[in-house]
Amino acid sequence: MTDNSNTNDKSGSSATGDALLGDQAWRRTDIAGRYFEPTYSGALSFLRRPYREDLSEADIAVVGVPFDGAVTYRPGCRLGPRAIRAASVQLAELKAFPSGRDPFEILSVVDHGDIVLNPHDPATIEEDIYRAAKSVIDTGTKMLSLGGDHFIAYPLLKAHAEAYGPLALLQFDAHCDTWPAFGPLDHGTMFLRAVEEGLIDTKRSVQVGLRTHNDLDVGIRNITAPEVHKLGVEAVLSQIQDVVGDGPTYVSFDIDVLDPAFAPGTGTPVSGGLASWQALELIRGCGKLQMVGFDLVEVSPPFDHAEITSLAAATIAHDWLDVMAGQK
Ligand code: MN
Ligand code: MN
Repeated sequence: MTDNSNTNDKSGSSATGDALLGDQAWRRTDIAGRYFEPTYSGALSFLRRPYREDLSEADIAVVGVPFDGAVTYRPGCRLGPRAIRAASVQLAELKAFPSGRDPFEILSVVDHGDIVLNPHDPATIEEDIYRAAKSVIDTGTKMLSLGGDHFIAYPLLKAHAEAYGPLALLQFDAHCDTWPAFGPLDHGTMFLRAVEEGLIDTKRSVQVGLRTHNDLDVGIRNITAPEVHKLGVEAVLSQIQDVVGDGPTYVSFDIDVLDPAFAPGTGTPVSGGLASWQALELIRGCGKLQMVGFDLVEVSPPFDHAEITSLAAATIAHDWLDVMAGQK
């Protein structure tokens, strides 16, 4: 570290007790700002945010949703929250790029831990995620949810729609996830259900990065991956802005929107996807949207190499937090 001024200010209240002790994820009393801790040691939390059960002073709660019982191909994304937290330590060290902001001086962000889910009783999964999400949203705190497979977005959306009304869905994904269902736990069908139940305002919704076919058109605008490549990031952002407008918007980011070269660690990889830089520029360009929630799903660490996928996921989630800080 050449510049400790933003991370290692022991004169403030950020570090507690003996400054030589790490593990500030649970030692720390102040939820604002950042602090120094070596990237390679200490208790892991997302971006080194303090763990907090009490959300009364938190703007955003990071919540892990470790469930992968709804996948159609490769499993493993129940280990996603853990891997994304581990990969996020590098990003906790410095101010955000390219804004130069410290999002945590502006927003109070805490790690609220993982939702405890019982994989042996699949019938409980949807309700347990929904109730956990509702308990967060009811406090007025926004959620940054780390999956888990994409099915988790259904109970999350339901809880958000109850608080905010029908939502614009901004979905980044190789897949539309609006295919007809084979059964209740399916990560390729939950957005059709959400449309049928009125959780999503289809006229204000956009899917970005698609490169799989569905005969069924549910009326959501889609901007395919080849279109992103042809149009470029700025044109896509302006289309997103036009469709989504300024109403409440839920962002659901399936890591398989990235090309397998940039996100090998995922359950249903599809060639021809976005590069990390395109996805980051798209997220950084969402500052005019009224985003009420965000999930990042489908990171499957057993299929990852050298943290490529979990680092991309952590960076996307970090940059979303920085966008939210920029709006405050
Ligand atoms: Mn997908
Ligand atoms: Mn998906």
